[in-house]
Amino acid sequence: MDLNYTDQDLAFREEVKTWLEANLPADLQHKVLNHLRLNKEEFVRWHKILAKKGWVAPAWPVEWGGTGWNATQRHIFEEECAAAGTPMIMAFGVSMVAPVLMKYGSEEQKRYYLPRIYDCTDWWCQGYSEPGSGSDLASLKTRAEREGDFYVVNGQKTWTTLAQFADMMFCLVRTETTERRQEGISFLLIDMKTPGITVRPILTLDEDHEVNEVFLENVKVPIANRIGEEGKGWTYAKYLLGHERTGIAAVGRSKRELGFLKRIAGAQSKNGRPLLEDALFAAKLASLEIELMALEMTVLRVVSAEGAQKGPGPEASLLKIKGTEIQQALTELMLEAIGPYGMPFEREYLEGRTPHALDDDAAPIAAYYFNFRKTSIYGGSNEIQKNIISQMILGL
Ligand SMILES: Cc1cc2nc3c(=O)[nH]c(=O)nc-3n(C[C@H](O)[C@H](O)[C@H](O)COP(=O)(O)OP(=O)(O)OC[C@H]3O[C@@H](n4cnc5c(N)ncnc54)[C@H](O)[C@@H]3O)c2cc1C
Repeated sequence: MDLNYTDQDLAFREEVKTWLEANLPADLQHKVLNHLRLNKEEFVRWHKILAKKGWVAPAWPVEWGGTGWNATQRHIFEEECAAAGTPMIMAFGVSMVAPVLMKYGSEEQKRYYLPRIYDCTDWWCQGYSEPGSGSDLASLKTRAEREGDFYVVNGQKTWTTLAQFADMMFCLVRTETTERRQEGISFLLIDMKTPGITVRPILTLDEDHEVNEVFLENVKVPIANRIGEEGKGWTYAKYLLGHERTGIAAVGRSKRELGFLKRIAGAQSKNGRPLLEDALFAAKLASLEIELMALEMTVLRVVSAEGAQKGPGPEASLLKIKGTEIQQALTELMLEAIGPYGMPFEREYLEGRTPHALDDDAAPIAAYYFNFRKTSIYGGSNEIQKNIISQMILGL
């Protein structure tokens, strides 16, 4: 296994960098680099720019719009996007439901949904978790009963990220009560405009509206919107989760944030000297940087071992744990570095209504710190990932 980049890889990196410099809108870059919140229009705008270039779904098969890049090129692309400060491409459509559609969807479903995911005609959300059914997802209770050509769905989903923007939700429902709880679950695609759906916000620690409760009351979903076989949804759901966890490692973004942390720590002073020169702080920073380098090497090993079309295995759990621990440690050190300057909480500033009025690194950091507590919970909590590692990798 050779972890060095080839000359072709380096030329590819240059091509991506040059294109991003010319095409990433300055207002979006400013918001991302300064930890400001983006709205729906801003996410969609960037999605469409990448789609037009043909780079929005690099991992997809070429026939559906994939780039045909190898795993190393995809990794380089993600790194360069993170370094430049591009908005995230929402995973729910491109990286989560799309792979499921490609593997288990009917030809008709693929032909209808994949192009709409590619150009962001539809914004997707994920309807897995329910009150009392998070880690123990197989205990989910939302029911779907057949009535002619429809399922009638009743129940409640929770923590549904950005459901307030969503046109479509991929949703796990119980179509049968069986002894083995993983059986009898089906995977439905639900149009969020269907009568009977109510989306209610849950405000998080940083006062953000990122997650929601979704209530489903006699929601009629065409049977044609079911993926694969009735009662086999658990298989499709698990396949999707592996894709969710790999993306959460976000090494490129952590490298960018490490640079940001060094910058603010260099500007803050402690006892008349830059914080960066304080032995205790410098040791914490160095230890975090080493962890991040080790994670990057691990990601490269996984990437180089992974065939172009092979889905991620249990190593996705490893990357998820380490990646999120590093992200949280970074936000902790940021908060430590800015100290009391993190106190101001200006909603208008965070929402970017005055994007260039305040050039203050510190203002969004407390909110950013609070927001990042979520990373060890979503995508399956880190404790659950440890259970997966002990069973699937260590064989315990
Ligand atoms: C910001 C955010 C966004 C989210 N977005 C979505 C979304 O878009 N769609 C969606 O469907 N879900 C979403 N989730 C839900 C997320 O997947 C769940 O929160 C997660 O799976 C944990 O479930 P829970 O909250 O019910 O906690 P619980 O399962 O009740 O767990 C509580 C605690 O017990 C621990 N625990 C539970 N079981 C075990 C075990 N067997 N072994 C060891 N420890 C255990 C957990 O690690 C955790 O610390 C989101 C969550 C957050 C925080």
